[in-house]
Amino acid sequence: MQSIQELKDKLHDVKVLQSTGAVLGWDHQCYMPSGGAEMRAEQMALIGRLSHEILVSAETERLLLAAESDAAGLDPDSDDARYVRVARRDFDHSAKIPTELVTEMAQTSALAHEHWVAARAGNDYARFAPWLEKNVDLSRRLADCLGYECERYDALVDQYEQGATAASIRQVFETLKPALVSIVHAVKELGPNKVDSSPIHREFDETVQKEFGERVIRQFGYDFERGRQDRAVHPFCTTFSHGDVRITTRFERDFLSPALFGTMHETGHALYEQGVSACFDGNILFDGTSLGIHESQSRLWENLIGRSLPFWERYYPDLRAAFPGVLDDVALPAFYQAINKIEPSYIRVEADEVTYNLHILLRFELETDLLEGRLSIKDAPSAWNEKMQAYLGLTPPTDTLGILQDVHWSGGMIGYFPTYTLGNVVSVQLFDKADADLGGRIADQVRDGEFAPLLGWLREHVHQYGRKYPPRELLERATGRGIDPKPYLAYLRRKFGDLYGLRFD
Ligand code: ZN
Repeated sequence: MQSIQELKDKLHDVKVLQSTGAVLGWDHQCYMPSGGAEMRAEQMALIGRLSHEILVSAETERLLLAAESDAAGLDPDSDDARYVRVARRDFDHSAKIPTELVTEMAQTSALAHEHWVAARAGNDYARFAPWLEKNVDLSRRLADCLGYECERYDALVDQYEQGATAASIRQVFETLKPALVSIVHAVKELGPNKVDSSPIHREFDETVQKEFGERVIRQFGYDFERGRQDRAVHPFCTTFSHGDVRITTRFERDFLSPALFGTMHETGHALYEQGVSACFDGNILFDGTSLGIHESQSRLWENLIGRSLPFWERYYPDLRAAFPGVLDDVALPAFYQAINKIEPSYIRVEADEVTYNLHILLRFELETDLLEGRLSIKDAPSAWNEKMQAYLGLTPPTDTLGILQDVHWSGGMIGYFPTYTLGNVVSVQLFDKADADLGGRIADQVRDGEFAPLLGWLREHVHQYGRKYPPRELLERATGRGIDPKPYLAYLRRKFGDLYGLRFD
């Protein structure tokens, strides 16, 4: 189809510009000296502007209309028909946002970021408050431009998770919240020393941590011919093309978890990107379909595999051998408990599998309240602390350990947080279906260090499609079901019931 090919050629430029931006972003976080910041900001802004201009140009619109009329005769599930639908969504999304608003959001988030860094460092919420107010206001304007059916939040979350709404997220949390809170309380009643996490806080040589992590992710199936691993303060995964999907890792000498589980987490993201069909390379379908589906992949490899008992039955002897003498007095069950300890804490990114979602619930509730004007900027820190107390039994002693901890709100990313919990929920739905299809053998396979069957299933049912199917449709095609938090809860109850010798129901 001539018209569809012409549209692809046009939007290929957008993809190349985005890929160029990703290279610059990667360098920024891994290697760039601070002196490069000013020019880098200009480079990134220019790339953003050029790709926006191409995307919303009259020429793109003309090609899109022609492609749509040709695609009308195609099988609606064909790659080309789906390509045109995704192009329409991207075009409409960008075209609905006036250029002045795009510019204002970019400038505000750059400035807000600076003030947030200083406010967090100095425990000074008052410094960040006016910027949070601006970002909430910009988010309202953005939502009004994008349009929504029920509430503004719907428009914002849809950017990250197509089809999700505040109501659908509330429904997920209605199931999760009472169950999670009761697990946290039951574990708390056992006393703080039921599980000892000190074994993972010993001295672990960083070079050895890197080698061990590398060995593990090679076995998961991460392809180093099409990727590499570097150090960064905030770990991430970034994709330039089918042939170049990179991860970064943060190492701590006296704490095993950040590098070990962080590497598995980013590898989960990378396996998704490395698994997108090569025929979408350089095309707008070459990407994960949503943040929630992306996060389901990282959580699956990090938690359902990396923090599972079968995994450590296979790899614990290797880990001990890699760090001679360090873990000699720690038997496997104690190690398994240490890496899975449930412990309410102030900081989201350090939270365990159970408390993590309560951190997200708190943020989701505050975001919707701020957006709808039910909560004022001034009262937000105390609302934060009250919810921390209600859900986790802790009151942050400072705003640095409370409302100022996350980068998202400084970047104007309101509506982003729930995708983390959706990822957790979906990870178990996919895992359970894969296990059923593989004859209930995943645990045995993991115990044998064999990950190819699981990866193969994910490639076939999730990865290869890239953005071809929107997230809800992808999940339904893969599992036959819509989003459902019950399997995730069952998983948590089983795992942590066994681990703590409790019965949750
Ligand atoms: Zn992630």
